[in-house]
Amino acid sequence: MQLGLLVEDQAPLARWLMETLQECFPGIRVEHAATLAAGLRLAATETPQIALVDLGLPDGSGIDLIRDLASRHPACHIVVTTIYADDQHLFPALRAGAQGYLLKDQPREKIVQALRGITAGEPPLSASIARRLLRVFDTETKSADVAEKRLTPREQQTLSLIARGYKIAEVATSMGITHNTAHEFIKSVYRKLKVTSRAEATLEATRLGLVNPHL
Ligand code: CA
Repeated sequence: MQLGLLVEDQAPLARWLMETLQECFPGIRVEHAATLAAGLRLAATETPQIALVDLGLPDGSGIDLIRDLASRHPACHIVVTTIYADDQHLFPALRAGAQGYLLKDQPREKIVQALRGITAGEPPLSASIARRLLRVFDTETKSADVAEKRLTPREQQTLSLIARGYKIAEVATSMGITHNTAHEFIKSVYRKLKVTSRAEATLEATRLGLVNPHL
């Protein structure tokens, strides 16, 4: 790292971050901007290898600078340095092209450690941010799972009948459909629930609240 770009409007924090950068990357030259406009000017004339970008700037959002840096300097490691840990700041910043997200309220050695990791290919993320990202991923996976398992009302009806021990012919009669159609419904229920037997299907039906196990 030869050139760092530091965008931070609070002078004491800017000094602190500048020293942090110099501690991480001895010999690095750091250009400082206190506003979005100054940051954009530096991005247009310099080629930084690392950029620490504050989000709340007096003349706008650091996210605009992140977008600009990401398109001009694809090799630049863009790291958000902010006090905001909420989704409204985190996700737009990552979408704009930030590769790291550090909270400024951490002890210096945590920031140093995270920034040093960049050269080893480790994305600099504060622990709480990393946990938040993992939780989001976990929730998305689960909701995709639920969507895949979602049964149509007719399939739910089929499932609740199977769970009560109805045979295919009885399911067909009860639902006023042909034997073949009942068979198709059952196949599609089994496929969606990833089950292969009536016992498993009954278990799933109970879990989905389609049968009352106490009746
Ligand atoms: Ca600020």
